[in-house]
Amino acid sequence: MITAHLVPILSDNYAWLLRCSETGATAIVDPAEVAPVAAAIDAAGGRLDMILLTHHHGDHIAGTDDIRARYGARVVGARADAHRLPKLDQQVSEGDTVTLGNATAQVFETPGHTRGHISFYFPDGQVLLCGDTLFSLGCGRLLEGNAAEMFESLKKFAALGPDTLVCCGHEYTESNARFALHADPANAALAAYAEQVKAWRAAGKPSLPSRMADELAANPFLRAPDVATLADLRSRKDKF
Ligand code: ZN
Ligand code: FE
Repeated sequence: MITAHLVPILSDNYAWLLRCSETGATAIVDPAEVAPVAAAIDAAGGRLDMILLTHHHGDHIAGTDDIRARYGARVVGARADAHRLPKLDQQVSEGDTVTLGNATAQVFETPGHTRGHISFYFPDGQVLLCGDTLFSLGCGRLLEGNAAEMFESLKKFAALGPDTLVCCGHEYTESNARFALHADPANAALAAYAEQVKAWRAAGKPSLPSRMADELAANPFLRAPDVATLADLRSRKDKF
């Protein structure tokens, strides 16, 4: 089974350390800063089999070459973005699989934030690595893609089931909650969850990973019934 542990990096990013509990095989997702990522890998035993990249932005890939050089791990990323990612040992696209120890991840193409954004889902452990596509109580900015693409990407995540662990790339939850409460003021589940997030953050705890059940109940972007609603939410959030 895959377990996921967050590694705080940069100002508000998370890299994710994944471990196959049976074999000890280990992967890191989006290692954009070397020192904290290397410390987390070393604390877990110093083994690194694989580096998974969700998209090409510097705050997700910057430490990749250094971490690869230090541990000799295999780098996996989107075929569509191979030209703007670190050198890939495995290029993947929709429907491909990636193996870590005894576990296999499904690869989803999840454009919207960037054209070539991909996400990884390990059914064994129900771990979703969704980069900057889905955030807790929010979604990524549409920097390259459009609302229709983001809508389809979010639908793929929603279909994974309520117990899915949402392991995204940023700790944006508290500010996302402020907009969500503004956009959906009558949502009691959202109000309760926003209080929970506030308490976690006040206690210095991360708000991630979140559970898909909470996102399905409280995240206005995931709950948008159609592309037009999502587009409207996203443009209002950009100005909020
Ligand atoms: Zn990004
Ligand atoms: Fe980012």
